[in-house]
Amino acid sequence: MNAKMGAGAAHMILETRAVPPFMKNGFVLGCETTREGVVIDPGDDVDLLLDAVREHDLSIRYILLTHAHLDHITGVGRAKAALGAPVVLHRDDNFLYDAVVQQGQMFGFQVERQPPVDRFYDGPGPWTFGKYSAWVYHTPGHCPGGVCLAVGTAEATARDLFVGDTLFAGSIGRTDLPGGDMETLLQSIRGVLFSFPDDTAVYSGHGEKTTIGKEKRTNPFLVV
Ligand SMILES: [Zn+2]
Ligand SMILES: [Zn+2]
Repeated sequence: MNAKMGAGAAHMILETRAVPPFMKNGFVLGCETTREGVVIDPGDDVDLLLDAVREHDLSIRYILLTHAHLDHITGVGRAKAALGAPVVLHRDDNFLYDAVVQQGQMFGFQVERQPPVDRFYDGPGPWTFGKYSAWVYHTPGHCPGGVCLAVGTAEATARDLFVGDTLFAGSIGRTDLPGGDMETLLQSIRGVLFSFPDDTAVYSGHGEKTTIGKEKRTNPFLVV
C-alpha cells in the first residue's frame, strides 16, 4: 500500500460514471469487506452505476444525494427500484427535488418525476456502509440544500470528499440558479471544505478529481 494514499479509504471500492449531456459524475462506493455500499447522485448514468453495483456484488444501503439539481437526480427512481435503498437529501433542496419536471423544462429536457425522498440529512450523520461512513457537511451556495459527504473509516482521520457542484477542479459551482448565492458558496468552500487537510481527495459533481491543497493553491476563484 502506498502510504501517501488516503489511509482511511485506501481499499474502498470507488466507481465513477458520467454520460452526456451533463457529464455529471455518479458514484458507487463500497466496503471491500462487508460488500455494503452507497450510490451517490444517480442521474442519466444510472444504468452504468447499477452495472458497477452488480460487478462488485454490493448491497446498497443508501442513495445519497449531494443536492437536487436535475442532472444529479434523474436516475433516483430507477436506482431505488433496482436497489430498494432509501433516498437521502438535505431538506432545504426538497423544493428543487419536487420541481424536477420544471427543472427539465428550463433546460429543454423532458424528465420524469422521481419517487419521494425517504430521509433528510439531520446533522452530521454518519451514514454507514460496512467499515466506512459518510459524514454530512451542509455547504449551501450553489443551492440551499447542498451537502458535501466526507467518507472514511472511524479509525482513520483521512476522508474522501464528495462535494457535488460546490467545488470543481479549477472552478466553483454556479450561483445563478434558484437559491444560489455567491457569498454563501465561498463561505462554504473556505469555511468548510478548506478546513480539511491539503491531501484530501475531492470528487466533484463534474470533471476531474482534485485535492483540497491543489484548489487552495491554484483555483482562480479562490486564490487571494
Ligand atoms: Zn448543481
Ligand atoms: Zn451538476
